[in-house]
Order: sequence, then structure tokens, then C-alpha cells
Amino acid sequence: MGLLDSLAKQVLKRATITCVAPIAQHTYHLTFQGPDLADVQYTPGQTLNVFFDLSGPEAALRKRTYSIWQYNAEALTLELAVCTFSNGPGARWAQQCRPGDDVYFHGPGGKFILDTPTAFSYCLLGDVSALSHLYALRRQLPQAQSVFSLVHARTEADCFPDLDGTYPLHFAIADQLPATEVLAEVAAQGLSSATSCLFYIGGAQTLCVETRQLLRKQWQVSANHLKAKPFWK
Ligand SMILES: Cc1cc2nc3c(=O)[nH]c(=O)nc-3n(C[C@H](O)[C@H](O)[C@H](O)COP(=O)(O)OP(=O)(O)OC[C@H]3O[C@@H](n4cnc5c(N)ncnc54)[C@H](O)[C@@H]3O)c2cc1C
Repeated sequence: MGLLDSLAKQVLKRATITCVAPIAQHTYHLTFQGPDLADVQYTPGQTLNVFFDLSGPEAALRKRTYSIWQYNAEALTLELAVCTFSNGPGARWAQQCRPGDDVYFHGPGGKFILDTPTAFSYCLLGDVSALSHLYALRRQLPQAQSVFSLVHARTEADCFPDLDGTYPLHFAIADQLPATEVLAEVAAQGLSSATSCLFYIGGAQTLCVETRQLLRKQWQVSANHLKAKPFWK
């Protein structure tokens, strides 16, 4: 083990992977548990930096950011939904990790969280890589709250429900999803007054950038009513 890996193990928090379950064609549901998950300061919408390959043959310290799908302070568990579309190191880690494995992490952190719990309406937009994040945000809002949504998935087999088995967000199944279609779809859901709505956009960088531009220029949404967080380029 390299010096960097050994140092990382000393400064990072550690948990044990207790469950690894494929929940969609390209997504694994991972559950961590352990005493380092006690007294974690967590706000729904925050993320975790996960470090892996610490003892791997390449001895390369790798870090990827994942949204916390759910944190349970009593059970000392934390859940993630990790996608494999990328086929990169993070995807391979999710495919290969097994119950009993150690996982090293830092966090929670991040600011892609709900700012105002009292807006007139909310609009949650993204793709499958941001789905668990959007579910965590949706759970913060009352059931009766006016919430518009659209999650881009290439196939139905890529869609998965929230942890309670429900599907509280709308999906668009398509190869490509231009920003114009995203906004046409939420308009069709009944979003008429964009100026009194808070928008949260996560996922592909192009989706975040283009949707944000359209909302600012065509829908006159002010910058402080809009949060866009690219999850991948
Ligand atoms: C705030 C934040 C929260 C995130 N939350 C999650 C989460 O909850 N779940 C999750 O799976 N990922 C999440 N991500 C993305 C995650 O951090 C990794 O970037 C992603 O998993 C790819 O890592 P990798 O090592 O597998 O591939 P990389 O080596 O990083 O990328 C390999 C290639 O795959 C492409 N790629 C990456 N993601 C996708 C994708 N979704 N679809 C198609 N191509 C892609 C890249 O552009 C690159 O060309 C989040 C990112 C951020 C910034």
C-alpha cells in the first residue's frame, strides 16, 4: 500500500458495505453501515465523497461524489444509488463491491439542497444519475406541495423507484432530451408561473447549462430561483 493510501485510511471515515443490489439496468443500490456514521451532520441533498481502490493493485487513490439517497442516524446506515453508464472506476467499484467490504468516505457536504421550504412550487429536473438526489429533495417537501419534475432516462429499464417503492417524479424516455422539450413537458404538467417556482437541475452538464439558459432567457426565472449542478460532463 502506498503512502498516500495509508494516509487516506487514517484521515477518512470508514464504513462497511452491508448491501449491494442492482435496482435498474444501470444502477446499484449500496448500503453502508458503521460507527463512523454516528453524529453525521446531514441535510437532504448533500453528497458523499467516496474513496476506493485504496488497496488496489494500481494503488491509485480514486474519489467520486455520490448523492446520499438516505441517511438513518439510528441504524447508522447510509444509502447511495450508483450508476454504471460511465463504465469508469466508480461504475466498476459499484459493480464489484460486496457486502463486508470496507468503504472510505468524506462528508456529507455540498450545497445542492433545498433553500426555501416554503416556495409556491418546485421543479425537479435531471437524469438517472441524479434520480436518488431528486428523490431525497422530493421527500423534504409535503406530499400536497406543487412539484413539477422530469427525469431523463434512455429506457424504462433505467428507471427505479424511491426507497418506499413509489415513483413521485415524472420520467421522459428518450435517446436525447433537449432543454426545449424538458420545459415543454413541465409546462404540460401545468407549470404556468415560472417566476414563483424554484428550479433544481442535476445530471448531464449539457442538460444543466441549456435548461438554465432557457429558464433565464425565455421564462425570465431569476438566478436565485434556480440551482443547476452538473453531475457529469
Ligand atoms: C454533486 C454530485 C452528485 C453525484 N451523485 C451521483 C449519484 O448519486 N449517483 C451516480 O451514479 N453518480 C453521481 N455523480 C457522478 C459521479 O460522481 C461520477 O462522476 C460518475 O459516477 C462517473 O464516475 P466513473 O468513475 O464511473 O466514470 P468517469 O471515469 O468519471 O467517467 C467516464 C466517462 O463516462 C461519462 N459519464 C459519467 N457519468 C455518466 C452518465 N451518468 N451517463 C453517461 N456517461 C457518463 C463521462 O463523461 C466520462 O466520459 C454525482 C456527481 C456530482 C458532482
